[in-house]
Amino acid sequence: MSLTAALAYARHGIPVLPVHTPDQGGVCSCHRGARCDSPGKHPRLRHGLSEASTDPHQIRLWWTFWPRANVGLRTGVVMDVADVDSAEGWHGLRHLLGGDVPPGPQVRTGGGGRHLWFRPTGCGNRVRLLPGLDWRGAGGYVLAPPSRHAAGGDYRWIRRPAVALPIGPATLLTLIAGPPPPVREHPVAHPGRYAEAALEAETGRVARAPAGSRNDTLNRAAFALGRLVGAGLLAESTVCRELTAAARHAGLGWAEIRGTLRSGLTAGRRHPFEHGPPHAA
Ligand SMILES: [Zn+2]
Repeated sequence: MSLTAALAYARHGIPVLPVHTPDQGGVCSCHRGARCDSPGKHPRLRHGLSEASTDPHQIRLWWTFWPRANVGLRTGVVMDVADVDSAEGWHGLRHLLGGDVPPGPQVRTGGGGRHLWFRPTGCGNRVRLLPGLDWRGAGGYVLAPPSRHAAGGDYRWIRRPAVALPIGPATLLTLIAGPPPPVREHPVAHPGRYAEAALEAETGRVARAPAGSRNDTLNRAAFALGRLVGAGLLAESTVCRELTAAARHAGLGWAEIRGTLRSGLTAGRRHPFEHGPPHAA
């Protein structure tokens, strides 16, 4: 039963959130029903991820309302998750890990993919880290056993969490962190201009995001721009306004936008962008 599992995750410090559930035919429990573009995968809570909790009373209350809720777990707190959704992704990940499969927890997702749990990297979500492989980090969440997938399968443990989670090997961490931006090696000459360009690039990505990756793209953009807000290079109100407009353009709903923006920005602000010491004139 999903309440028992939710409480167990929370006892281990993993913030839990109730997620919508697909019925036998794969139709989402949300008001969009068969028209939902993310059936059984989006939070039931109004503010989404930002309301994820480890409080057993809160969790019991949620599961009183929604006894069959899928179990969402916030990533970036106790664990980050490599989200493999195809044979190509699995091959790519194994290649990256030097052919070995790390000894940590592993979930068979209801859609036939796999989740591998690692210690948190401090990085945000990375969609398409490799083809068929996403990374769920700060500001993200994953579904966990015993959730049900719209394709009909359940999320099951291949290997349950034991003592300590594995650290991602260096090759994986390097890929997640992304190519070192030139700004890490040299202070940005014009931080303000850099931030403006980042704002434009991220809002463009969100506005053009195809259905199915819109929420991820928004989350990533909010995280990236939240880092610039944290560094004092952008105003939070500007970022919220621009990203909201872009996400509306892409077709996301208000509630989802609010929740994703809040969690992405909060996670980003905790990792402020470092632009080096101010330039001497
Ligand atoms: Zn739905």
